[in-house]
Amino acid sequence: MSIESPWVLLGLLLVAGAVGFYASRKPRPSALGAEHVRTNYLAGVNFLVNEQPDRALEAFLRAAELDGDTVETHFALGSLYRRRGEVDRAIRIHQNIVNRGSLEPQQREQAMYALAQDYLRAGLLDRAESILEELSAAGSHRMAAMRNLISIYEVERDWPRAIALHEELSKVGRPHQESAVAHYWCELAEAARSEGRLEEAAEHLRKARTGRRRFPRSALVRADIAVAQGDTELASRLLKGVVEQDSGLIVEALPRLVRLARAQGPDGDALLARAIEAKPEGWKEFAFAAILADAVDFPSLESLARRLFETDETLAGLIRALGRDAASLDSRAVRELGAVLRRLANATPRYRCAECGFSSIAHFWQCPGCKTWDSQRPLTRFDLVAGLDAGRAAAH
Ligand SMILES: [Zn+2]
Repeated sequence: MSIESPWVLLGLLLVAGAVGFYASRKPRPSALGAEHVRTNYLAGVNFLVNEQPDRALEAFLRAAELDGDTVETHFALGSLYRRRGEVDRAIRIHQNIVNRGSLEPQQREQAMYALAQDYLRAGLLDRAESILEELSAAGSHRMAAMRNLISIYEVERDWPRAIALHEELSKVGRPHQESAVAHYWCELAEAARSEGRLEEAAEHLRKARTGRRRFPRSALVRADIAVAQGDTELASRLLKGVVEQDSGLIVEALPRLVRLARAQGPDGDALLARAIEAKPEGWKEFAFAAILADAVDFPSLESLARRLFETDETLAGLIRALGRDAASLDSRAVRELGAVLRRLANATPRYRCAECGFSSIAHFWQCPGCKTWDSQRPLTRFDLVAGLDAGRAAAH
């Protein structure tokens, strides 16, 4: 039998709390009542030691019904259950506290907030939401409740409510992330754009820019709108601006630039060359993005891909192993090697979150792991080993 020390410790604290309380309480409760509480606590600890958490919980709840003054220890028990992932038990404990008639208002708020955390942990968003809405109106948990509600609205993609609450929160305290509201507006704009409501989309983007003047995501969506409206000149100017501002977004901007370039026919390469000149230090990102976008047939992108093959030790080594020399590859060989690398890259994570390390093949504006906005960075190295492993796994 393995004894889980935090449980035993907490159980002993509960017993000590109950015994100490009854020793000091005036007027003293009936000796029989105190004995009953103590018996239930001791039974609870015994069940914990013997790894019977359900029976332990029943014993503690019975003791709690008899003794309305050991609320704090029950909070501790509830949060311990939640931390261990035993959410059902945490919910029972916190519900039990909420349902008591004799609670101080602050204790009731604390219990409701704890219960909302249990529901969040259990994925019961609607239940968490209704409790948090009540708490966000007033009281000591107001700000925390608002922040929690914002996260729920983000999951539900309820952007108007997220915007409203974020603005309310910024009046009374600091919101989590200043740029979040601009992203909400961009989410609304993207939805409107994909349904052909271009004017509405443009209006959402204007709102995004009032909060954040130079916001690359907004420029990307504006560029898409400009393309839909046939304004190639504006689209390419906006995309060039995105490239200049953030080399991490070259991988997003380049496929759009390539589409514009293809539509322009023979002048297309000049359009790409201007974008590359706008951010010379981003050449590696351009080369990577060009390979991913199957666009190394453009001379300006081909020369960057070639430069990548020559300077990246792993790639140069691979090419040498194939009996070739990176410096003397012809255009066709560059395209063929690009196709191989693209297949490898499509099977391995290409983005990693700078905050939590979550990695993914697709790009997310909000990290699915830690929910931070704008934290995903593109990887600019081809992970040949992981790519080959993924390829082998897919073949089996
Ligand atoms: Zn993250």
